[in-house]
Amino acid sequence: MAERYDVAIIGAGPGGYVAAIRAAQLGMRAACIDKRASLGGTCLNIGCIPSKALLQSSEKFAEAKKGLAEHGVIVGDVTLDLAAMQARKGKVVETLTKGVEFLFRKNKVDWLKGSARIAAPGRVTITGDGNAQEIEAGAIVIATGSEPTPLPGIAIDEQRIVTSTGALALDHVPERLAVIGGGYIGLELGSVWSRLGAQVTVIEFLDRILPNMDRELGPALQRLLSRGGIKFKLSTKVVGAQPGNDGVSLTLEPAKGGERESLVSDVVLVAIGRRPLTDEIGLDEAGVKRDGGGRIPVDENFATNIAGIYAIGDAIAGPMLAHKAEEEGIALVERLAGQKTAVEYDAIPSVVYTWPEIAAVGKTEDELRAEGVEYRVGKFPFTANPRARTNGDTDGFVKILAETGTDRVRGVHIIGPDAGTLIAEAALALEFGASAEDIARTCHAHPTLEEAVKEAALAVDGRAIHI
Ligand code: FAD
Repeated sequence: MAERYDVAIIGAGPGGYVAAIRAAQLGMRAACIDKRASLGGTCLNIGCIPSKALLQSSEKFAEAKKGLAEHGVIVGDVTLDLAAMQARKGKVVETLTKGVEFLFRKNKVDWLKGSARIAAPGRVTITGDGNAQEIEAGAIVIATGSEPTPLPGIAIDEQRIVTSTGALALDHVPERLAVIGGGYIGLELGSVWSRLGAQVTVIEFLDRILPNMDRELGPALQRLLSRGGIKFKLSTKVVGAQPGNDGVSLTLEPAKGGERESLVSDVVLVAIGRRPLTDEIGLDEAGVKRDGGGRIPVDENFATNIAGIYAIGDAIAGPMLAHKAEEEGIALVERLAGQKTAVEYDAIPSVVYTWPEIAAVGKTEDELRAEGVEYRVGKFPFTANPRARTNGDTDGFVKILAETGTDRVRGVHIIGPDAGTLIAEAALALEFGASAEDIARTCHAHPTLEEAVKEAALAVDGRAIHI
C-alpha cells in the first residue's frame, strides 16, 4: 500500500526543505523528494553557498595580494592553491547539506530520493535507482526551482562554455573569461575569477549592468569593478560562439544592430538568467497551468488551479532568491495549518555579493515614479562614515527613498562595504512600515557602517550631520 503523507514536497531547495521542516513542526507528516544526491537544492549545492565560499576565498587572495600593504601588513609572495580553495568550497557545501539531513532526521521529515512526477492530484510517483514508488499526499507542493536559461545557438559543455555550475567548478584560472550577462550571477562569478587572475569581460545586452536595480547602482558598481580590471561591453549581444584551438570565439553585435566583432576567450560563462524547472513533473497531464515562461500561477494560498497542488520558490513568479523561496515555503504550510501567514513581497531584500556589495529592498526611483508616488531622497556616502575610513572601504553610498508627506520608507539602495548585512535594518523598516525619521531617531552604535544608514535617513530631511 502507498505511504500516505499530509504533505509531499517535490524539491529540497530552500523553498522545499524549509517548508518540510515547518510542516513537521506543525504536526504534519511530511515527505521531501529530490533527485539530487544531497539536500539543499540549487542554493546549497550549486548556487548561493558555493559561490559565496569562492567569493570569500578569492577576496582573501586579492586582499593578501593588494590590500594588506595599506594597513602596514607586508606579506611575501602570495600564491594560489586553487585545488585547496575548491576543496574548501566542497567542504562548506557538504557540511551545510548534511546539516539539512540532520534537520530532517530531527524533525522526522522523510527524504525520498528520486525524480518525482505528479501521477494525479494526491499521488506522486518517485523513480530512482531503477525503482519506482508511489506515495499519497493530502497536499503536493511543487518546489522544483530553476535552471540556467540557455542562449540559443550556444552549446554548453560545462568545460569551455559553462553555466554557473561549471564556473563554480573550474580547476584552473582561465586566462580570458567572457561573461555573457551583467546580472548578479555573472558579476559575482566574474569577480571570483578576476580576483584570481583572469582577464574578465562582461557582455550585457542592455545599456547598464544590474538593469533591475535602482539605476544609480549598476553604473556605480561598473566603475568600481572596472577599476579592479573587469571590462564591460554594454548594449552588445552575442550572436554566436565558435570553439577552436585558441579558445572560444564569440561573435558580438551592437544590440541595435551594426558591425560585428569577435572576442576570443578561454572560458565563456553564460549567465543570462534562470528559468523555472517545471516541465519534468507531469504538470500538463495533471492539468496544472503554467505561464509562457514556465512559471506556475498561484493564488495567495500558493494554490495552483488544481485542488491540492501548490507551488513556491523559483517555480512561481517573483524574484528568484533563496530567502523568498523560504518565506513562501513557510507561509504555504502555515496556511495549510489554518494560519494567515503572508509574504511581504515589498520587503524582500536582494544582494549582489561583489566587492563592494550591492543591496536593495523596496521600490526603485523608477518604480515609485511609475506609480506616481512622490518621494524624498536621502543619500550618504561611505567616504563620510568613520568606520568605512578605519576599514579602508569607503566606496559607495546609502540611498533612502521616503514617501513625501508620510515619510514612510519605500526603498533603500546601498552600494558599499557589507551592504548585504546593512540591508537587514532597511528590510525590517519596510516590514514595520517605518518612516525615515524612525531610522534617523534610532541610536546606532559608533563607529559602525550602520551609521551610514542613519545618516541617509537624516539626509531625507536635509539634516545629515557628517556631510
Ligand atoms: P532550488 O533550490 O532550485 O531547488 C529545487 C530542487 O528541486 C533541486 O534540488 C532539484 O534537484 C529538485 N527537483 C527539480 N525537479 C525535480 C523532480 N522532478 N523530482 C525531484 N526533484 C526535483 N539566491 C539568493 O537568495 N542568494 C544568493 O546569494 C544566491 N546566489 C546564487 C548563485 C548562483 C550561482 C545561483 C545559480 C543561484 C543563486 N541564488 C541565490 C538563487 C537561489 O539558489 C534560488 O533562488 C533558490 O535555490 C530557489 O530555491 P527553490 O527551493 O525554489 O529551488
